[in-house]
Amino acid sequence: MTALLLAGQAAATTATRVQNVPRAALPPPAMPPRGFHPGLFASFTEPLAGLANQEALAVAEESGGGGSALLWQGIAAWFADPCTGMDQYANGFWKLQHPPAREQPSHFGELKQAVAQSILADAAQASAAAGGAEAVLAATWASAQSPSGRQWSAFQPQLAAILALSSRDEVERHLCEALPRGQAALLGVERYFRRGVLVVAEGRGEGTTGLHALPTAHPVVVSHRAQIAALLSRTGMPAAGAESAARTIMEMEQSIAAAPAQLQSCTREQAERAVPGFPWATLWQALGLDPMTALFADLARSRQVAQLLRDRPVEDWKVFLRYREAAVLQRDLDSGTQSADILRMLEQRPGGRLLLSSWYGARADPRWFAAATGMFDTLKQVFRDDVAASALPAEDRVVLDQTLAATRLVLEQAGSGRDWTAFPAGGDLVTNLQSLAAFALHDDLDIIEGRAQGEDTALPAHHLSIGTNIIDGLVRVSPALLASLAGQAPQREVQWATLGMMLGHELGHVLSDAIGLSDPGQSLMAQEDAAIRQRIGDLWSGTSHLDATRVLEEAGADLRGLSAALRAGETEAAAAGRSFDRKRFFVAAAGLHAANPTARQLRAQLEREGHPPGPFRAELGRSVKGFDTAFGCEPRPSEPFDHILPRAGSTAAGALHPNPG
Ligand SMILES: [Zn+2]
Repeated sequence: MTALLLAGQAAATTATRVQNVPRAALPPPAMPPRGFHPGLFASFTEPLAGLANQEALAVAEESGGGGSALLWQGIAAWFADPCTGMDQYANGFWKLQHPPAREQPSHFGELKQAVAQSILADAAQASAAAGGAEAVLAATWASAQSPSGRQWSAFQPQLAAILALSSRDEVERHLCEALPRGQAALLGVERYFRRGVLVVAEGRGEGTTGLHALPTAHPVVVSHRAQIAALLSRTGMPAAGAESAARTIMEMEQSIAAAPAQLQSCTREQAERAVPGFPWATLWQALGLDPMTALFADLARSRQVAQLLRDRPVEDWKVFLRYREAAVLQRDLDSGTQSADILRMLEQRPGGRLLLSSWYGARADPRWFAAATGMFDTLKQVFRDDVAASALPAEDRVVLDQTLAATRLVLEQAGSGRDWTAFPAGGDLVTNLQSLAAFALHDDLDIIEGRAQGEDTALPAHHLSIGTNIIDGLVRVSPALLASLAGQAPQREVQWATLGMMLGHELGHVLSDAIGLSDPGQSLMAQEDAAIRQRIGDLWSGTSHLDATRVLEEAGADLRGLSAALRAGETEAAAAGRSFDRKRFFVAAAGLHAANPTARQLRAQLEREGHPPGPFRAELGRSVKGFDTAFGCEPRPSEPFDHILPRAGSTAAGALHPNPG
């Protein structure tokens, strides 16, 4: 450690001496004085940068950031050479300002933070007079800030309804009709794309999984039972009754939890045949579903519920429902009143996220999407031109061209265009949250029944997202992502390197996932994949190597996206008589992926994720044609990645050069 610190001081002095020299003009760093363990230098071409990098990660691993990690990362940043370490060159100083931490710092993490901050600021200003989603948000926000709306008295109407239940029929109706009231505590409907899923036992408190397998005298079970009894007391049940009620509730929960989740698509009739005794007709009716509409239903648990309905007296069901509905309410009543608490609460409650998305989407500047669509169409043309000029058989060029031509960019904004005018906002927090849950359920049912208009987008407008659905040929991007990228540097080079590269990345997926290619076409694509794999296989960060096969799809989409975005940007600049700064383009593209993982976080990401981690994605630009000349790097043995597919007439050459691009 002493030796390493000495090296740091020596290098820091060097850094001070040369700090006025432009970094690209720096000579390669001199070998540091002797006295280090020779093993440290074995694999380094740039001893100081490499050493600093290793030390930074090692120290960060121990300390969780800070300490001499900062010093070493600073040195690495000073001596970074774009030709061998683009991530360090573009992001070294960013890393210095964002030391490793338990939650890995990343540029995307910063963007996410900024969106959350803007939502907090704007939501606090939401006006009831604005109408639509904004008025609903204003009313909900105000009710969440008001302590007077957080009383257990809000539970009285629900409790009265439960206490009035007097027959099994009434219990069944209560169970089913709780859903459209936004008071679901045992049954729930979720939506995946256009299909509905009936879940059983949702809404129970977290952390109870596995509880029911423990013996009844286990301290965890005893404590859970005490919590149930305490909650029942809060609803006004006398302590003595609450004790035995808690036992009943745990028994009932246990028998439901004992059944493994087992989903099967059923119409009403099919469900009735599969699990007799469950109130299927009442449920379909309460949801307003067509009897022929199929739901994925949790049949094993439904069977347990049917059995409980048959075996347990109405009084048991009344305490069970009392507890379950109170548990949902408790979560709402006990949530914080600060702005950040309210935002988190809305994110986590059914309907709350839909409201935020509707509101955020309606406020998005339409110019962001217009600009993105313009870029998308230009990139699509680059892809189509490359396909037309490629060495693929003619019929495959037609297939790919049609696939690309049919691909469209749409906004990802769940709940866009929803009519909130009839929403009964303005009450207390509990009423508002239940109304939101009911609104979201009806919205889902409209989509499940095919009554909803327009595109079905699943993700919220206020989350950062971009993705492609190969089946419907739509590339979806969220307004929040467009807003974040529009808020950075205005230069076109930066816009093309960030938003342009991401849109190009998605088109890369469209291309590589296209179906219906001929055998020769597929084998040419396979050759191209092998060439891309070879480039990715060259990438190292510290001692971590990228698994080229594992990340092929994503890294390939990155390379294609970068190549297309660079050429689209240059063509646009040429047409406008402007120059195009390639250096700025490549630095911005690397900056998009700025991240400062510890060595352990990096390894975990490498094992878990299909996307290359940030430090690797930042390096990918080095493989793209135009990089070497922009930074004055020595040409490498392999040809740089140029077009998204090998060109016609280059196949013979491609056999000689393994990286035809
Ligand atoms: Zn991707």
